[in-house]
Amino acid sequence: MSKLIRNYVNGQFIDSDKRFNNINPVDGTLVSQVCEASKNDVDQAVMAARAALAGPWGKMSVTERAGWLYRIAEGIEKRFEEFVQAEVRDTGRPVKQARTLDVPRGIANFRFFADLIKTANTECFETTAADGSLALNYTIRKPLGVVAAISPWNLPILLFSWKVAPALAMGNTVVAKPSEETPSSAALLAEVAHDIGLPPGVFNVVHGFGPNSTGQFMTTNPDIDAVTFTGESRTGSTIMKTVADGMKEVSFELGGKNAAIVFADAHFDAAVNGVVRSSFTNSGQVCLCSERVYVHRSIFDRFVAALKEKTEALKLGDPMDESTDIGPQISAEHRDKVLSYMKLAIEEGATLVTGGAAPVFGDVRDQGSWVLPTIWTGLPDHARCLREEVFGPVCHVAPFDTDEEVVARANDSDYGLATSIWTQDVTRAHNVARQMHTGIVWINTWFLRDLRTPFGGVRMSGIGREGGRHSIDFYSEITNICVKL
Ligand code: NAD
Repeated sequence: MSKLIRNYVNGQFIDSDKRFNNINPVDGTLVSQVCEASKNDVDQAVMAARAALAGPWGKMSVTERAGWLYRIAEGIEKRFEEFVQAEVRDTGRPVKQARTLDVPRGIANFRFFADLIKTANTECFETTAADGSLALNYTIRKPLGVVAAISPWNLPILLFSWKVAPALAMGNTVVAKPSEETPSSAALLAEVAHDIGLPPGVFNVVHGFGPNSTGQFMTTNPDIDAVTFTGESRTGSTIMKTVADGMKEVSFELGGKNAAIVFADAHFDAAVNGVVRSSFTNSGQVCLCSERVYVHRSIFDRFVAALKEKTEALKLGDPMDESTDIGPQISAEHRDKVLSYMKLAIEEGATLVTGGAAPVFGDVRDQGSWVLPTIWTGLPDHARCLREEVFGPVCHVAPFDTDEEVVARANDSDYGLATSIWTQDVTRAHNVARQMHTGIVWINTWFLRDLRTPFGGVRMSGIGREGGRHSIDFYSEITNICVKL
């Protein structure tokens, strides 16, 4: 029997008459029913969060607060396999990915920010006043207040905890909404918080959709102080307009149309394997995935042939099978969007190297949301398939001749999230990296993350950075205090 997922408001699990279905994209079966939070539920959650700021949570020492984050991490660890199953059922992601990346990162996010706040410092300056006496300028950090955290479906627990952990670490209270497609791991996190006795109202989880639903009820609530959002660029733009009147703080991690650049001097096998990873991890549903691949003309044909061979060797299959590489797309709606780009690519003049359609399994998976990993060549740079984020297992490979040319073509995008560069020439690597208009550049690797480093994009890919001290900056307010001595 499927489970009922309820909202977690002010330390209570609350029911709602309005419910929606959570579907397993592997075969279209029902995973759970989810209570959609009403405007009143969201208002109650924000009120509880506001009240909790004035309670013991607001007066707690850094060490005590860090203790709560460590206990949340332990709580996830104790229920590790349940989190793994929840992630796999909601998304169809391969179990090996949930076990090695998603759930471990969820745990790490809480531990990392608990450690970090214990060493976070502020500034102090000695200033000479007009009369020659000294003044001391020092800053103190305070929580922002009530943080609304809204996250997407592609890396559910990883991205949800990436917001919740630093927000709590800095002493805020949180009203958080996972994607309607992936409610299960956030619901488990609410259970963990409840079981360890986190004070009521500090962490609230509300479920539902965006427009005219829970997401919009959160962003239009005048009593929130900030919005941290990860999702599509056009949703970010809608939220920005919504919160403009209230002058709320925003942190936006948005879409990408990322380039991978492979120079003739790259380590060939490492570059091929790297591009397979960067294009098809999580079935292409990572904001950092490279959908545009530029390969030096002298190795182009050999590279495309090797990429095709490796891509066709990826195993689509049962996500619970440890050897599976590729799962389905998140939903039938998203699969149809990806398939529409596959049709468009051909209309725009692409040559199909592999994929380009939904697979036919001849079993229950034909009720699911699958598409084949797809490679195209031959599109003109202005093609919509090279300018719009597909967010599926697709990449286009184009030849280039000079460094200047490839830098200009890679930068010719409305987005600016990440670039990966493949070369063994250290001077070229640094020269190209510093010219990229993206928030992140990887050289001879992809998606290698250190939680201390800034993460985020430029242009349509986002506003602000999170990670390490950048998260501390976003999730706190600073007051400068000047004392004349
Ligand atoms: P989405 O924008 O459709 O939804 C994201 C979240 O916002 C969901 O919880 C949704 O319910 C909510 N939402 C939607 N409309 C809203 C509104 N008007 N008001 C308030 N909330 C609203 O994005 P998605 O399809 O879930 O995720 C995929 C997108 O996320 C891709 O574009 C991907 O590139 C991006 N993404 C970016 C990063 C990054 O770090 N830059 C990471 C992961 C995903």
